[in-house]
Amino acid sequence: MTIASILSRQAARESAARTYARTLPIVPVRARGMTVEGADGRRYLDCLSGAGTLALGHNHPAVVEVIRRVLDSEAPLHVLDLATPVKDEFTSELFASLPPAFADRDLRVQFCGPAGTDAVEAAIKLARTATGRHRLLAFTGAYHGMTEGALAVSGDVERRGTDAVTRLPYPYPYRCPLGLGEPEGARVGARWTESLLDDPRGGTGIPAAMLVEPVQGEGGVIPAPDSWLREMRRITEERGIPLIVDEVQTGVGRTGRMWAVEHSGVVPDAMVVSKAVGGSLPLAAVVYRSDLDLWQPGAHAGTFRGNQLAMAAGAATLRFVREQRLDERAADLGGRMLERLRELTRRHRCVGEARGRGLMLGLELVRPDADPDGLGARPPAPELARAVQREALRRGLIVETGGRDGCVVRLLPPLTMSEEQAEAVLERLDDALTAAAAGPPIPAPLGAGAVSTDWAGAGR
Ligand code: PMP
Repeated sequence: MTIASILSRQAARESAARTYARTLPIVPVRARGMTVEGADGRRYLDCLSGAGTLALGHNHPAVVEVIRRVLDSEAPLHVLDLATPVKDEFTSELFASLPPAFADRDLRVQFCGPAGTDAVEAAIKLARTATGRHRLLAFTGAYHGMTEGALAVSGDVERRGTDAVTRLPYPYPYRCPLGLGEPEGARVGARWTESLLDDPRGGTGIPAAMLVEPVQGEGGVIPAPDSWLREMRRITEERGIPLIVDEVQTGVGRTGRMWAVEHSGVVPDAMVVSKAVGGSLPLAAVVYRSDLDLWQPGAHAGTFRGNQLAMAAGAATLRFVREQRLDERAADLGGRMLERLRELTRRHRCVGEARGRGLMLGLELVRPDADPDGLGARPPAPELARAVQREALRRGLIVETGGRDGCVVRLLPPLTMSEEQAEAVLERLDDALTAAAAGPPIPAPLGAGAVSTDWAGAGR
């Protein structure tokens, strides 16, 4: 069975909507920590980490051991939402991991279908039920999942209409949506939010909730300024608007704190968790203040809400991150890597900006030949980002692309990455940038359609 034949069967049999499989034509057969081995014996350093899921890397002994233990115990693996010792332990570990000011709020947890997007749906439904309001506030560049269509085509008219969204500017210093740069852009964006809510003819009224990512991941690795996030908290709190923080990608130490809201000290009303919280297996939940718990039994059901192996793996991961202080390690190593990435910005004209928080890092690729705009940004170069991804793969490095235009090369390495691995990542990335910048005009990747597959497919 050759790799080429597996890949060609995949291309022939799987959906046109497939994503990573287009840009990463490898066939992984073994993985440990940060290393993935392909069927051809080639080894790769994995900075994709299951789209940020693998906080401890692949097959971490702490995770594998608890999975084996659950299997050996003959515990039922499928229990819907019944109570089990495994779930009880996971819930305790999750609650213990939360920022104390949030944990103090008499929290409840709703386990959801095992994808981040389902927990986002649940959080929206929860806020709508609790407030009796419908409209939502969300941000430019936001990514919260893929299931909006599921509600739109359902017969339940009451719950339909996720289109009732007011879009607000998310601070993006490099390409400030207000054309102001920072910190002015964030300040004016907050002011706009406030005046919109207070204007009786603003067209928004008081909405059911605000949804925000503390660092936009798919949007291009854009950390929200702490002061701006605090402003969003003040504005929502003063008006009785639940603040839902989406920590699907930023949670479990990724940004240098256990939860990204801890950087700003913001206490949300609800937090959506998934990805790393399942310790590499599918799990998603929404944790929220008990006074929002006004929905009826079955208001958000789903067959797969009790993934026992994921809960065991997730509890082990949360414990390991806490005990080994991997959040602090992410802050330290990520901070040093960001410095090195900034050096790349100075050496490679095709890199417009390096940014990130903790071990959530990105390089925005821009057209080296174009003139900068008034704020110093050159036009996005998604084709170069894809070329960097391809050149990195040739050098044994798996990276992600994302961002509005698909022009951001993203790094989401495991929090357990060693110093040597970090060094190898930076060297391979440096070489990949040189090769991509020197290369001929880049053809579209295998099977890419008319859409930007990176934005349409990133992180999903
Ligand atoms: N929210 C955020 C912030 C995400 O990054 C993602 C996935 N990239 C989701 C929600 C959706 O998660 P899932 O793909 O598991 O549905």
